[in-house]
Amino acid sequence: MTLEGINPAETIYICRKDSEEPVLECHPVRIATSPWSGKERKIFDFSQVTEPGRYTIIAGDETAEFIISETALDALAEAALKGFYHQRSGMDLDSAIAGKWARKGGHPDTLVYIHGSAATQERPEGTVISSPKGWYDAGDYNKYVVNSAYSMGLMANVFRVLSMKRLITREESTRFWEELEYNHQWLLTMKDPSDGGVYHKLTTPSFEAFIHPTECRQKRYVVQKSVTASLDFAAVCAEMGMTWGTHFGGNLLWDINTRGVWEKAEDGAGAYRWAKENPDAFYHQDKMNGMYDPDVVTGAYGDGSASDELFWAATSQYMANYPGDSDVYLTDVIENMPEEFTLMSWGNVAALGVFNWIEMEMHHRKWGEFYPIHNPEAEQEKEIRTRCVKMLMEYCDKAIEAVEGSCYNSAYGNRPEDFHWGCCSSFCDQAICFLYAYELTNDRKYLDNAFRNINYILGQNATGYCYVTGFGTKSPMHPHSRLCASDGIEEPIPGLLVGGPNPGQQDIVEVKRYSSDFPDESYEDVEPSYASNEIAINWNASLVAAITWLSHIGNEL
Ligand code: CA
Repeated sequence: MTLEGINPAETIYICRKDSEEPVLECHPVRIATSPWSGKERKIFDFSQVTEPGRYTIIAGDETAEFIISETALDALAEAALKGFYHQRSGMDLDSAIAGKWARKGGHPDTLVYIHGSAATQERPEGTVISSPKGWYDAGDYNKYVVNSAYSMGLMANVFRVLSMKRLITREESTRFWEELEYNHQWLLTMKDPSDGGVYHKLTTPSFEAFIHPTECRQKRYVVQKSVTASLDFAAVCAEMGMTWGTHFGGNLLWDINTRGVWEKAEDGAGAYRWAKENPDAFYHQDKMNGMYDPDVVTGAYGDGSASDELFWAATSQYMANYPGDSDVYLTDVIENMPEEFTLMSWGNVAALGVFNWIEMEMHHRKWGEFYPIHNPEAEQEKEIRTRCVKMLMEYCDKAIEAVEGSCYNSAYGNRPEDFHWGCCSSFCDQAICFLYAYELTNDRKYLDNAFRNINYILGQNATGYCYVTGFGTKSPMHPHSRLCASDGIEEPIPGLLVGGPNPGQQDIVEVKRYSSDFPDESYEDVEPSYASNEIAINWNASLVAAITWLSHIGNEL
């Protein structure tokens, strides 16, 4: 726990709730000073209190409560995954699942137009296609291939690790699978059947107002096919194949001989080939607007490098698409392998490929060689796995060095550049890296630091906010979300991770004034703040993956 501000308490007391008899008297283990605000922060450690129950912390005149329970994170894990159900487009949401946030469906997307930038001989400009289902991307109502494929890939990777370890129940497995499948059914419609390329996004020309989905009337288009969308699509088809094998196979290991796994992966093989033939087909929204009408001014999800997308797609296709073009995939893996590990994001997906290889490593360590027959590529595979393990471990060990001296006892959040648009998801992403490291080494320090990063976003931070809607004693009430803004319900949809502190303040015109410019306090719980208070599927994917994993390990310890 971190205590800051004017509270002079040097000793805190931990009592059972409804008791004044302290079970622990606690002094600061250290005092840290914020490099930005100069605020002094006292760090207390009461981890020796382990008996389940409700407790009160008494610090001078202030009190706070906490719970010790084996299932403390379960409700959050469930709500975070349900966040995707709330983001579903094109269907009515059931009150049995969505509770009071049940609503009529909007955006059936059965009348979607081919934009001039996406026109081909087979599908000229203005052709109508049907492209229903999928998740709304964020606070807006559009559907972007790059971001939703990334979100699926991240969750699918963690889902399979939990399945492999038999930590996930059949019921949870089904919930995961159904949610991923809902978006995948949409993604499959984004492939141009004539050449295999994938449209970059399905969008209105400009953002809708803050109105209910059923009130939206703007025309919806699919735009230019892009190399990044095509590769992410190719990757996610393979990810879905492997995840399908894990879910329906009921095995620890997806069965490489299962036809269904290859078939799903093969859905993406054409997109892969298209991307290899069109390596420069990046999505440049401004350039496109100079050539075609109507202009499109919604989220661009542009990218300057597709090497990371190629690494991920080649890796997952190599793993799942047997007997696909394995020599091509393996060559592309080797040529596009990153030199060092970098934290994942929608624009840099190399980490997802690294996680795939680490998953292979886990299988090898447990069951020995993967193929029952002689595998001519075994040596190359082994070298790639070894390099991936090494780069992840180097990243984690370096990251953990920052904990010492940190104000909130976390590895992430100690450098100004740690606070950026959507930084709360980076706390989760780094926690996921630590969890892979924990699986590989069984070294408790990685698990502890995963929990610490999560503590940060759940409230042990400079603003005291729990950055997940509906959880904690102080949490966002006004996220930048059209769904939340238009439903007439005071409380926001629960289980959504907001972007978090962002000194970039790109929305200063709309927000008018931030109460702080310090990197870790630059957060405003107001609806116009898309730079600090929006919600997004990629950020929630990070939350789902980290919290689900931790909730299961917590139960296992
Ligand atoms: Ca990229």
